[in-house]
Amino acid sequence: MTDTLIDRRDLAFQLYEVMDTESLIQRERFSEHSKETFDAVIETADKMAKEKFANHNSAADKDEPKFVNGQVEMLPDVKQAFDAYAEAGFLAGRYDYDLGGMQLPESVMAACNGFFTAANPGTAGYPFLTTAAANLIRVFGNDEQKTKFLSNMLSGRYSGTMALTEPHAGSSLADIRTSATPTADGHYLIKGAKIYISGGEQSITENIVHMVLAKIKGAPAGVKGISLFIVPKFHVDENGNPGDRNGVSLAGLIHKLGYRGTTSTALSFGDDAPCHGYLVGEPHQGLKYMFQMMNEARIGVGFGAAVIGYRGYMHSLEYAKDRLQGRKASEKNPESPQVPIIDHADVRRMLLAQKAYSEGGLALCLYGARLMDDQHTHPDEQKRMEAGKLLDLLTPVIKAWPSEYGPKANDLAIQVYGGAGYTREYPVEQCWRDNRLNPIHEGTNGIQALDLLGRKIWQDQSHGLQLLMQEMQVDLQAATTERCQQWALSLSETLQQAVKVTQSLGKSLMGGEVDKTLANASCYLHLFGHIIVAWMWLRQANAAAHALGSANSDSERNFYQGKLQAAQYFFHWELPTVAQDLVLLRNQDDTCLNMKADWF
Ligand SMILES: Cc1cc2nc3c(=O)[nH]c(=O)nc-3n(C[C@H](O)[C@H](O)[C@H](O)COP(=O)(O)OP(=O)(O)OC[C@H]3O[C@@H](n4cnc5c(N)ncnc54)[C@H](O)[C@@H]3O)c2cc1C
Repeated sequence: MTDTLIDRRDLAFQLYEVMDTESLIQRERFSEHSKETFDAVIETADKMAKEKFANHNSAADKDEPKFVNGQVEMLPDVKQAFDAYAEAGFLAGRYDYDLGGMQLPESVMAACNGFFTAANPGTAGYPFLTTAAANLIRVFGNDEQKTKFLSNMLSGRYSGTMALTEPHAGSSLADIRTSATPTADGHYLIKGAKIYISGGEQSITENIVHMVLAKIKGAPAGVKGISLFIVPKFHVDENGNPGDRNGVSLAGLIHKLGYRGTTSTALSFGDDAPCHGYLVGEPHQGLKYMFQMMNEARIGVGFGAAVIGYRGYMHSLEYAKDRLQGRKASEKNPESPQVPIIDHADVRRMLLAQKAYSEGGLALCLYGARLMDDQHTHPDEQKRMEAGKLLDLLTPVIKAWPSEYGPKANDLAIQVYGGAGYTREYPVEQCWRDNRLNPIHEGTNGIQALDLLGRKIWQDQSHGLQLLMQEMQVDLQAATTERCQQWALSLSETLQQAVKVTQSLGKSLMGGEVDKTLANASCYLHLFGHIIVAWMWLRQANAAAHALGSANSDSERNFYQGKLQAAQYFFHWELPTVAQDLVLLRNQDDTCLNMKADWF
């Protein structure tokens, strides 16, 4: 079993050789940083993830949190890990110095968080939800709310949740029923039920700050009537100290396939006692605000899926080097020594696929994090706006592609182990179970597909799409070696076909054929996602080809050759799979649309 969470050489390559993260220190916000400080914080994250998070990953999976006498009992290691994360300053890592933060770029923070999720996705869930909830209050909350909650959340004294889903309203948030009734003293009484709320109850922090979607009595129907409320588990005085219990209570814990270390809760609001909620921002704007948290969380989900895929790849790679089995097909002598399974081409196929999915997914998510940096800190206003548009367009892909291919990587990791992979003695089955959540939460991948083809592609007269094509052109033209140029050509040809099919889908949508056009949105997401990840591989291949000539050690040459071979795998084995999507989309295939429920 390897303790490598994410290969540090690969991360350094992606951050500095592909993305030029070091250039961020020229921006005012990051001017007190250097490559050394970035590396130091990454080193701390890697070390802490191994010591405080990986140490109880399997134990927390086997010994799930329990509901005992109205309290949640969980392993003490989870609190120790959360506290260590908070003490090291990671909760506030990306925020301003005056908020107690470190003003680190998103690209660096995302890389750090990758280690924690790879080490223990269940425990990492608590700090990640807390930072995302805190960010909502930071951006949309009033001064009183910030005083009471924000610093306590960024210090790790309080944790946060996002409470959207209801038993009858998951994908369709327009239909939520939780209600908010105004009181005479300016706040609201919340009544309703939420389900699957991660971290909704735990024994880690002094208080839990739920960010709750609810409808104010008399609000417009649908998403236009949704407001956002802060609902603390314990009431908080003006100095931010917790007092009496508020009327939000745990109705039950939900038992899951994976991610068992994060409590999944059914919560009831206002059933046993009045539940007080505090409106964030303006009434009826809640979904818009929550989208900030959801978009952040969607990128986080993609990142998590990529690194859990990565972790399984690291385990199976090590196993394949050690496990002796059989001989080459051409070896006729039964007394010749057995070979490590990595010598079999079919095992290399499975390892290459995992490498292509997990390093490709990581590259995509780091690119998304860099867009966040550019959106907020690029010195050129035009570039800030463009980065925001690109990020908006790519968010469904950043969420969905790694969450589709991360579990596929874990599935292949199990296969590399053979029978051992199917047992609980080895870690890869847990990776798969944990990762299987990612296509489901934060908007299922089906919903991401609808968001991409139904909305994002056409937003601002497809300005985001045009910007994306311009960005891709830069890397297509940067391909200088024969191999890279071949890959650039096949990417460019596929892109042209995708553009044509996009135009015809656009015409159908404009012509009112909404159901028919969107019926195959998942094919479109696959097509679009594979093109984007092929681009990510071309960027890596260009950088590797450039560096290979001056590499001065065998390990460096091997590293760059490995990158080029994985790029070749993606271009030979993966990109061609979009041919099927192109046919189905071109024909606007109606097989699924016209199947009737009664025919099943
Ligand atoms: C472990 C776990 C943790 C979670 N954590 C949180 C949390 O912290 N906070 C929170 O608020 N929620 C949380 N969720 C809820 C999660 O976001 C929802 O499960 C998810 O949004 C899907 O909703 P649903 O389960 O009701 O499925 P449904 O909405 O019933 O969907 C079922 C299927 O139908 C498809 N479908 C639904 N509508 C459409 C449509 N219009 N077009 C095409 N296909 C459609 C979906 O893609 C899916 O395949 C969590 C869920 C899990 C399992």
